Amino acid sequence: MDDLQFGTRNRRGDWAPNQHLEVALFWTRPLSLRKVVEWAIGYVWPWNAIAIGTAWLWWYFIVPDMTTMKTLGWAWVLELLVANWIGIFLFFGYFELRYYRRRVQERRFKYNGRFPAEQPSDVFWFRSQNVDNFIRSLFVSVPIGTAIEVGLLWAFANGLTPMVGWREHPIYLVALTLLAPVVHEVHFYFVHRAIHWGPLYKWVHSVHHNSVNPSPWSSLSMHPVESAVYFGVALWVLVLPSHPFLAVYFFHLAGFGAVVGHIGFDRLEMADGIAPRSHAYAHYLHHKFFEVNYCDNGTFPLDKWFGSWHDGSPEGDRRMQERFNRKKRRVNAT
Ligand SMILES: [Zn+2]
Ligand SMILES: [Zn+2]
Repeated sequence: MDDLQFGTRNRRGDWAPNQHLEVALFWTRPLSLRKVVEWAIGYVWPWNAIAIGTAWLWWYFIVPDMTTMKTLGWAWVLELLVANWIGIFLFFGYFELRYYRRRVQERRFKYNGRFPAEQPSDVFWFRSQNVDNFIRSLFVSVPIGTAIEVGLLWAFANGLTPMVGWREHPIYLVALTLLAPVVHEVHFYFVHRAIHWGPLYKWVHSVHHNSVNPSPWSSLSMHPVESAVYFGVALWVLVLPSHPFLAVYFFHLAGFGAVVGHIGFDRLEMADGIAPRSHAYAHYLHHKFFEVNYCDNGTFPLDKWFGSWHDGSPEGDRRMQERFNRKKRRVNAT
């Protein structure tokens, strides 16, 4: 597929889409049925549907019954951890293998013209972004996310959290499952903004931002504190009357879903003439410019409302520059 029909490539080899990012159609006026339907399909398909599907598989085949989870036994905890490792390894590994190792579409639709493997750097363990990100994603973030998941399942099994059943409240639980991605997005926006605050950025979040040119393994490459607050989204089930399935689903939304922003390609060539958009551009711009697009604005355009939205256009660049200049003036004045 000719990517220059959809975007432009600069002298450094970086490709950018012609079509600028838009906030969720749901928020654009005038509202029409077509927009609502398009928004609803995009909300569910494909990423949230994948997370629901994998969470469902885990719920039926991996998560033990409530009696077993009453006690924190090594057997079920390790089984869950190993399942999460295998799941994330296969899911992230699929994108890594296909687009970064085999390079099936070479550099077509690739935002950054270079592959991380071509840019060894001292900021990474073993001078390799891939190795560093792989170790941090699998052996820091997945165990921390699993620990939160296990703690919540144990709390449900012991009646320590407000629990409702699928038989008694199916509509409420379906609504909660459908709303979970919104909870994740809003939670991510605020914790993400918090860890961009100077000292926290330096101590915690800079680890994730070492990957200026993110790739699939960058998705969960985090400082342990960030892993905890990021997967901490699942703790919302302690506040809302809920079901243990939601504790599993939140792990899948945050864990598997993290890959979306770190794919590095605007479109993924699947077959001849079929190349769906990846929705990675907003978060790619975050990795490139740091203080823009704190969340993906999939449902709530929080960045737009709080003034940090960058849609990839020259106008977006100008707004960002103005904001940085204002900040500089403020810092210099104190
Ligand atoms: Zn990121
Ligand atoms: Zn950030």
